[in-house]
Amino acid sequence: MTLPGHPFLTARDDGLWLEGLPLLELARRFGTPLYAYSRNAMRAAAASYQRALAGRPHLLCYAMKANSSLAVLQTFAEAGCGFDIVSGGELQRVLAAGAPASRIVFSGVGKTHDEMRQALDAGVRCFNVESEPELAALSEVASSLGRRAPMSLRVNPDVDAGTHPYISTGLKANKFGVAHERALSVYRQARELPGIEVVGIDCHIGSQITSASPYLDALDRLLDLVDALAADGIDLRHIDLGGGLGITYTDEEPPSAEDLVRQMLARIDERGHGHREILLEPGRSLVGNAGVLLASVLYLKPGEEKNFCIVDAAMNDLVRPAMYQAWMRIEPCVRRTTQARTWDVVGPVCESGDWLGHDRKLAVEPGDVLAVLSAGAYGMTMASNYNTRPRAAEVMVDGDAVHLIRERESVAQLFAGEKLIAG
Ligand SMILES: *Cc1c(COP(=O)(O)O)cnc(C)c1O
Repeated sequence: MTLPGHPFLTARDDGLWLEGLPLLELARRFGTPLYAYSRNAMRAAAASYQRALAGRPHLLCYAMKANSSLAVLQTFAEAGCGFDIVSGGELQRVLAAGAPASRIVFSGVGKTHDEMRQALDAGVRCFNVESEPELAALSEVASSLGRRAPMSLRVNPDVDAGTHPYISTGLKANKFGVAHERALSVYRQARELPGIEVVGIDCHIGSQITSASPYLDALDRLLDLVDALAADGIDLRHIDLGGGLGITYTDEEPPSAEDLVRQMLARIDERGHGHREILLEPGRSLVGNAGVLLASVLYLKPGEEKNFCIVDAAMNDLVRPAMYQAWMRIEPCVRRTTQARTWDVVGPVCESGDWLGHDRKLAVEPGDVLAVLSAGAYGMTMASNYNTRPRAAEVMVDGDAVHLIRERESVAQLFAGEKLIAG
């Protein structure tokens, strides 16, 4: 039986399996905490978008901040994807994974001049510009290299994505993009700048969006602008609708990628823009439900008000619960027949905010392995070394093969760059 939203995770008599391997075996072999990913879940998620986009000019750009491990990037590069990056570090990382620069779009509100230079040198496909001063800086940097930077303006369509405030990005109150009302005048400036080549328009309205309507609203606002720009003699090559499609953590029922994209494309065609290239920048929906975090139970600490199940993974490994009060499903890798009790699943870090799940009904014993589901996105990429905890190892399962894709960090690595003061 597969778990809701997790087509590559199956509950069998002997426990949970990821593709062709039992999670317990992965934990025993590689240790915990451990991130384990399904390569075929990633491929299937990309294919869902690509099926809907087939037959028209498009580029599916994986937003790599969701999970930027090299083997993950490699998997998407091999699937024909492009990449959405937000830093010079991500640029170097994705090039190291073998992605062609011509498939990279560069987003982010705070690109430094140095990052712009690196991206121009590499030959990225497009800069998603988020402000007027950034536009001016990009033109200067490009001109100084004797180049013109391909540019798209990130427009803030002022639609409510109906998601958590920290991951909602398309409202006027957010720091992202240029206000819809300003966009036309910014494009007119851009057209005059020597170092800029106007190529597209983009938006990204938030994350973990679970219905199509905010996308269609944003799309309409964008197409109004594309029409206005065309009337002004600015003909855009591409429309980039960002990312943000949600996944099933608990009982959310987001549209499938294929379904969402079909609805968007129908609207685009209806409004006469079917010839334009479509870019998308999904992150979470490509990797979120492809991954689990495995943790071993260290101690059980029943108390008067709360029972604590203390595990060896913590907020430094997976910060979503602490940071966004995110609910993530937690399942034992092997089911016990003993009585379940209600536990707070917590880590060893010295913070009360260090929890992975509150009030979970679990039958557990010390030494058991728990799986935190939907941990493929914004898990490892947000991991830290708080409490001098080395970051977890990562494995990629592909059928019944497993590849170690990141060695467990060593404590020595953590302070290798630090210096004592002489004298
Ligand atoms: C984070 C981000 C994405 C991806 O968002 P998801 O919710 O992970 O799909 C896409 N585009 C931009 C500009 C982003 O910052």
